[in-house]
Amino acid sequence: MSKIVLTAPATEMSDFKQNPFIAFTTSFPSRMIPLSSLKHKIWYSPAEKNPDGTVKFAPNGLRKIEAKLLENGFSESDIAVVHPFDLDRFVGPETKVVGVSCMESMGLAYVSTTYSSFMNLGGRSMNADEFHKLMSKRCLRKYKPKIIVGGAGSWQIERLGKREKYGIDTVIIGEADSIVVDIFRKAVKGEKTPSVVHGRLNDIDDVPTIRHASMHGCTEITRGCGRGCQFCAPTMRRKISFPLDKIIREVKVNVRGGSGMIMLASDDAFLYGAKQGVFEPNSTAVLKLFRSVSAVEGVESIQPAHISLAPAKANPKLISEVSEEILQKAWLNYRGKPYVTAETGVETGSVRLMKKYMKGKALPYSVDNWPEIVSECIGILNDNNWYPLITMITGFPGENEKDRMDTLELLDELRHAKIYYAPLFFVPLEECVLNRFSCDLSKITESQWEFFARCWRHNIRMWTPSLRKYASTIGQLSYYMYYKWKYGSVSKRAIDIVSGK
Ligand code: SF4
Repeated sequence: MSKIVLTAPATEMSDFKQNPFIAFTTSFPSRMIPLSSLKHKIWYSPAEKNPDGTVKFAPNGLRKIEAKLLENGFSESDIAVVHPFDLDRFVGPETKVVGVSCMESMGLAYVSTTYSSFMNLGGRSMNADEFHKLMSKRCLRKYKPKIIVGGAGSWQIERLGKREKYGIDTVIIGEADSIVVDIFRKAVKGEKTPSVVHGRLNDIDDVPTIRHASMHGCTEITRGCGRGCQFCAPTMRRKISFPLDKIIREVKVNVRGGSGMIMLASDDAFLYGAKQGVFEPNSTAVLKLFRSVSAVEGVESIQPAHISLAPAKANPKLISEVSEEILQKAWLNYRGKPYVTAETGVETGSVRLMKKYMKGKALPYSVDNWPEIVSECIGILNDNNWYPLITMITGFPGENEKDRMDTLELLDELRHAKIYYAPLFFVPLEECVLNRFSCDLSKITESQWEFFARCWRHNIRMWTPSLRKYASTIGQLSYYMYYKWKYGSVSKRAIDIVSGK
């Protein structure tokens, strides 16, 4: 039993057999795989544990909270970071606080909303289902510890008014670093804590260095973005690049904890070290970062989480130099050739929508030429063996037929590109400017069907011929979507488009 127990839903406590991209599928409906045992053993089986039953790897956000508490008077023996299936073992009469981190508590974000409606299976997404199961654990009702919930998906609890239903004392929305210690101290003393707090980072020094390993060796290199897209939460945060020595300390913690993979958490890895408001890459800082991380003994692979496209046009030489460094340690293969991937947002081919909602996305270039910039940057990335995972969105507020046609034209332009599409419906997230609009999924148009179908058809053509271990996983996912389209309760029109009729 521990004084403070930190945990997260089972979908966030799996390493997905060392493939971070499979985590994306936990936004699919839980009913897709009816047997819980199958999900828990195969889809998101628990990651490795320590001999005392605590987890070896935890989400980076949870590790940051743990580190912050350890920096501020709590000891290792006060805190246990555990898998939710083990809560009964760690929560007892001495437990004062249970801290829960969640990415998608209610299944309200982009992927869940889009694919739950397509698959039409009803019920919760896998991650929302696991959050519900965690919060319904008997030990929480029996011993009544204070419950504090934070993480990227905590706003959804407030949006749906579920705080009281789940017996949550405090929901932290936004950055917790500068406020979390005070809340935990009060909770441990049994004092009243605020029901909802919106956190914002006061000082970069408030961000602690993790003490134990993160899932997939996740290491935070930057925070915030600064491009100002109106549907995006990270852009509301102050843009910071963490000092290299702090990053390397985290990398070493991760390696020591058993992770050979280092996932660089950032909204734009190529803008590491660029000053606030500057969108030209700082090539010296970026190269030094990748080389220093790669040089840490025990680092087997480096996986940047997010990039933006424009830096590829601004400095193609940098892309080639970074590729040279990390391709030596690539963990992905496409038709026998190593490649690197990272998530990036193209979102739309409509310059009108870009100007309205995302005019900073092309900086340092004008968004007037967005489709051309996208094609050129993807060309540069592909030439250097970067095959990005691209989000595309339909259903923006005020989106019209011409906007959709512009997007279809861009998809056509990119038909030979080595990319993987994640086509999505627009969803209003809490911590962003466009946080109230809602896309009416019952009024999906012919051109929107075509948009989804073309994206998935590209994924199938591009990825399934490869029999390599990881690329074939992507291919299998594409086939899954295809067959849901073909045999599920979705539009006949979409089936025709996917099958090329
Ligand atoms: S570029 Fe990406 S991370 Fe930055 S504001 Fe736009 S959507 Fe957000």
